[in-house]
Amino acid sequence: MPTLRERLVVVGFGIAAYRFIERLGALGGLDRYDVTVLGEEPCPAYNRVRLTEWLDHRDPEKLALASSDWDRDRGISIELGNAVSSIDREARAVATACGKRVAYDHLVLATGSYPFVPRIEGVHEEGVFVYRTLGDLERIRARATESRRVVVVGGGLLGIELAEGLRGLGLYVTVLERTSHLLSRQFAPDAGTLLETRVRRAGIQPILAADLRRIEARDTTLALTIGGLDMPLVTDMVVIAAGVRPRDELARESGINVAYRSGGIVVNDRLRSSDPSVYAIGECASLRGVVLGQAGPSYRMAGTLAEIMAGRRSFHGRHTPASRLRLLDIDIWSVGDATVVGERVTWRRNGRYRQITLRAGQVISGTSIGPWDELSVVQDLIHRRRPVWWWQLRRFRSEGRLLPGSAAVSVADWPPSRVVCNCVGVTRADLDAAKRQGCASVEAVARRTRASTVCGSCRPLLAELMGEESSKRTDGAPSAQIAAAVIVLFLAFGIALAPPIPPAASLSESGLGDTLHRDAGWKQISGFALLGCTLATLALSLRKRWRLIRFATMRFWRVTHAAIAGLALIAFVTHTGLRLGSGLNRALAVSFLCAAVFGAAAALGWDRRAAGTMFWLHVLAVWPLPVLLFFHILSTYYF
Ligand SMILES: Cc1cc2nc3c(=O)[nH]c(=O)nc-3n(C[C@H](O)[C@H](O)[C@H](O)COP(=O)(O)OP(=O)(O)OC[C@H]3O[C@@H](n4cnc5c(N)ncnc54)[C@H](O)[C@@H]3O)c2cc1C
Repeated sequence: MPTLRERLVVVGFGIAAYRFIERLGALGGLDRYDVTVLGEEPCPAYNRVRLTEWLDHRDPEKLALASSDWDRDRGISIELGNAVSSIDREARAVATACGKRVAYDHLVLATGSYPFVPRIEGVHEEGVFVYRTLGDLERIRARATESRRVVVVGGGLLGIELAEGLRGLGLYVTVLERTSHLLSRQFAPDAGTLLETRVRRAGIQPILAADLRRIEARDTTLALTIGGLDMPLVTDMVVIAAGVRPRDELARESGINVAYRSGGIVVNDRLRSSDPSVYAIGECASLRGVVLGQAGPSYRMAGTLAEIMAGRRSFHGRHTPASRLRLLDIDIWSVGDATVVGERVTWRRNGRYRQITLRAGQVISGTSIGPWDELSVVQDLIHRRRPVWWWQLRRFRSEGRLLPGSAAVSVADWPPSRVVCNCVGVTRADLDAAKRQGCASVEAVARRTRASTVCGSCRPLLAELMGEESSKRTDGAPSAQIAAAVIVLFLAFGIALAPPIPPAASLSESGLGDTLHRDAGWKQISGFALLGCTLATLALSLRKRWRLIRFATMRFWRVTHAAIAGLALIAFVTHTGLRLGSGLNRALAVSFLCAAVFGAAAALGWDRRAAGTMFWLHVLAVWPLPVLLFFHILSTYYF
């Protein structure tokens, strides 16, 4: 008897729709539905986040998310170039532009956004473009090949990214920005000024506080009338990159609730719209009154809905948005909602810029120009609504960081809950799980978790975690750690190779060294000092494993660990007089020295793989120590 499968129709085939079906398949949920995907664009889902890169390689395959047999493998039907024109909620069917009707039991709207076009006279003239899809970019490039000058309207992330791409094609690029500085949604005016210098250096001409009033076609050129400029700005083409608006028209026209001001299909925590059989995910959805125009939140919504449709009781949790843009060879980061007003704390040095915004003692957003290793820390603070203390703010103002030396904290030492890939929402714990399941390379981990597959900025972190060469983080071990490790190595090899301190020929000739390792009282002192140091170093290793102990940074504790090991070796010399003894005592001495040598070698951290091996040898050498120590103390006092 044939099983009754429900009809699931997905409108739109972008990042969110792709992820939804991919995840639903992974959860085994595709067996329950007859799935039809209706996409307006003529090509299968592609990575829109990397769209501008197409100007360099012009290979759509490099952007593709779904392979050619992706739909066949999943037993789903995809119709491309067939936009949905209306929803008949009564009959539970959608109509397409080609006149086809497709019935549904569940409808998922994943229609994304459309480019916002300001109301300017002449904005629909030939030679004026918008930028959202691969088709748009193909048209822009075709015009660019016969142009010398281009004006990009909008000095936000998208506008500057495109300006850089077009500059790369050899065009003279002018960027018109309505506000007084670039990236005004993310950055304060001083950061915008810093960026402006870089933009000019890259050969892009920004015009700020530009009030574009009119575009006039003149033969093959366009004349732009800008308030405040005496002469019209003449160009060969114009691209509008002035923001996006959610594509909620299908829902609006069929009577489904949409957000009044910002637009977007209103959904609840289970991503359901006001019609129980209609869901919305990605940039077209308005969740808790917010439309998030980023790939990360779209990915997460898609994952949550897949779980719901696969029969799980999932809810869409709170999310801290983060975006990264590599512009003009600089990293530009934004985490949290930079548009929320609060107290701004800024650090600037040598062309680098970092800013956090605080409200009621908590960080609500952070932005940076240039590298910022603490970004995940800031994201964690925002997400957990943790307070920031005055000494952390003081450090931030003077050093540009909230935690001492946190830049050197390896991703392997991050708390499991910290997000490594912002786009896909993969935490360090997810990556660990993938490793445990047998993923042994960056590629394998990326394939399993999808981390680094959207914007790719977390790739170096993955490489670092997997110990692969491509790691761009060259922090290495901090110098204090290296210095302590070298001292420990020097002492340990000295003890192993140096001959025993010779006994004094007579009592009158006995010196300090003789007294220290022969006198019973001193021997007790040095012995207990040695025991104390050993126990202290063993206790310190708990800091790494026991997440409740969070005082100070890992870097601090590592250096402390090595320093105490150095003290233990000095106590060892005074206790033994460099006589390693025999039997139990020798075993104890060998175990102790091996632990010191392997530990110091691991701390040097010249190579992650070798450091890992050294660490495990260190652990191996440490294991017998408590037992050997116990018998050593017992035998000493017994005899
Ligand atoms: C150039 C560029 C760079 C970006 N860079 C970043 C970045 O660095 N980081 C970041 O986080 N985000 C970035 N974004 C934003 C990111 O791409 C979006 O957040 C993401 O694509 C949203 O996914 P989505 O599936 O909701 O929408 P989309 O990817 O836009 O997909 C929606 C699809 O639905 C189709 N559709 C719409 N209406 C219909 C209809 N009626 N019938 C059928 N199909 C329909 C559309 O044609 C489209 O193919 C960038 C966007 C662009 C354009």
